[in-house]
Amino acid sequence: MASLTPRLFVPSTMDAWVYEDYGSPEKVLKLKSDVPMPEVNDDQVLIKVVAAALNPVDFKRMFGFFKYTDSLPPVRYGIAVVEVKVDFGTLAEYTFAEERMLALKPNNLSFTAAASLPLARETAHEGLERAGLTSGQSILILGGASGVGSLAIQACSLIQCLAKHVFGASKVAATSSTSKLELLRSLGADLAIDYTKENIDDLPEKFDVAFDTVGQCCEALKAAKEGGKVASILPGTTVPPAFEFVLTSKGSVLEKLKLPVLDPKSPFPFTKAVEAFSYLQTGRAIGKLVIFPI
Ligand code: NDP
Repeated sequence: MASLTPRLFVPSTMDAWVYEDYGSPEKVLKLKSDVPMPEVNDDQVLIKVVAAALNPVDFKRMFGFFKYTDSLPPVRYGIAVVEVKVDFGTLAEYTFAEERMLALKPNNLSFTAAASLPLARETAHEGLERAGLTSGQSILILGGASGVGSLAIQACSLIQCLAKHVFGASKVAATSSTSKLELLRSLGADLAIDYTKENIDDLPEKFDVAFDTVGQCCEALKAAKEGGKVASILPGTTVPPAFEFVLTSKGSVLEKLKLPVLDPKSPFPFTKAVEAFSYLQTGRAIGKLVIFPI
């Protein structure tokens, strides 16, 4: 494995997780040590990867859910870039990205913390922005302990508001199973709702915005006020007037990143990527899973 110290020369091959067929991570994801380095164009930057977050889109892609729009395998490792065709990702010693997609890592964030933030935080931010959440409105986040949901709670709550992240909702409600309710409160939720005990569509109170990160559009619609907005990040699961979207990344939002939420099992070492994916697929991860060091 390459050292973390800056180097003047890059090697011609590298260690990378690769899949050559679609299927489950356990079956198709392989660690290879002779993967050619990516070729970088003038508007791209070669990146030495130190830490990388896993996102559900990564195993969905590996299973072939996007096979009609993505590059065909082999994928060296396709991760976290959702709006372009991808055959290189970040579970590799080196990768590349367009310069406009990048931001400097703040000094006060560890590599693990910094890797955990971009996709989930940008998705949370974009969802709140697209739903038009403004100061003083109420919001219900379905899936408050998820990677996106946990950061959406923070982005709306007073903590972030004081940090000049200005969504500043008047009331933030979020859902999870019983053991994660305390986490939701610690992130800034005023109301933590146990979905194993309460029916979301029977809640006595209605919300200006409902943000669905779990695929419960019908419940979200019932929880929204008349004329309220319902945003979903699960394309194909929405019913009008709810809307769905896919993240459009831009480096400028990365500069607003602040507070990571990491699963207690994070980080997983580079060699344990398959185990990390198995855990992510359970749908029970708390906040983000990160691979470190790479
Ligand atoms: P995670 O894998 O982090 O979600 C796991 C969490 O979801 C667990 O903590 C679990 O908590 C919670 N959860 C599962 N079911 C429910 C439920 N019924 N109600 C409340 N909470 C629930 O997911 P991500 O946040 O990373 O992603 C969420 C979805 O959004 C994925 O399908 C992903 O592919 C998609 N996505 C879409 C994007 C886009 O651009 N459109 C961008 C990013 C993600 P508990 O154990 O308490 O149930």
